[in-house]
Amino acid sequence: MQTVSHIKEMESLSSEFYLNKQTVAYVPTMGSLHEGHVRQIELAKRKAGKVIVSIFINPRQFGPNDEIIKYPSNLDIDLEICKKFEVDVVFTPKVNSMFSPDFSTYVVEEKLSNRLSGPTRAYFFKGYATVITMFLNIIRPDVLVLGQKDIHQTSIVKKVVKDLHFPVQTIVQPIVREADGLACATSNRFLDSQERIEAKKIYEALQRCKDLVAKGVTSPDRVLAEATHIITQSLKLRVVYISLVDPSTLEPVSVIVPKKTVLIISVWLGNTRLNDNITL
Ligand code: AMP
Repeated sequence: MQTVSHIKEMESLSSEFYLNKQTVAYVPTMGSLHEGHVRQIELAKRKAGKVIVSIFINPRQFGPNDEIIKYPSNLDIDLEICKKFEVDVVFTPKVNSMFSPDFSTYVVEEKLSNRLSGPTRAYFFKGYATVITMFLNIIRPDVLVLGQKDIHQTSIVKKVVKDLHFPVQTIVQPIVREADGLACATSNRFLDSQERIEAKKIYEALQRCKDLVAKGVTSPDRVLAEATHIITQSLKLRVVYISLVDPSTLEPVSVIVPKKTVLIISVWLGNTRLNDNITL
């Protein structure tokens, strides 16, 4: 496994792979790797000859009230995990090499970015779309592996790839969960044991709504009420939004289409924001 931190070095390695006709699958991460990332790496390995993982805590997707300094960083452990799962290249560029002091060019997706809680976090999607575009330019992968867990950012990147004609196939890893149903996430490590118990309500709500739809319920009101009912049984979960959307547009649906409509739940639990979703 190679660890590369210089952009020029990464670019020449990518050219080498291209000239040797080796296909490349790319997994973007912010590090602190967990089972969700591991399954993305495994998926990437099945899709291409070479797997590249980037580890980069992108300062441009944190807002003034987000605590970037608290974002965990465990590069040594991350590198061990990447090695164990046979990643070919780990790309760890430095912040100041990605963003020069006079950096002033951004990629802004203008439709999906305004859905759900987008308007209150415009910097987040702008920062994410911009940094992914930069990584696609540097790495030039054949396959881009994203996660269903972050359905909003994943949908935006798919749109950026389509609109800007990036020659890359985007594939999406289904949500990987802990034994108790909580979606694996870097932020889970901030939950204390009591919060961890409360957090189970999220998956309980998602599952219960999926069961309702399996029994023939297609009314969004009925399903949203059920999800809200279960989430609010916990006094500690504070709802940001509970929405039923069409996954391609992220627009609210007027009727639930089984196996297509997605129920998204976003809550605060203490100081931790938790996002989860399920295809009904
Ligand atoms: P992050 O390191 O949090 O920026 O996430 C990197 C990638 O991993 C994103 O595409 C996420 O959607 C994906 N991811 C994070 N958690 C999970 C999970 N539990 N299951 C599947 N993919 C995930």
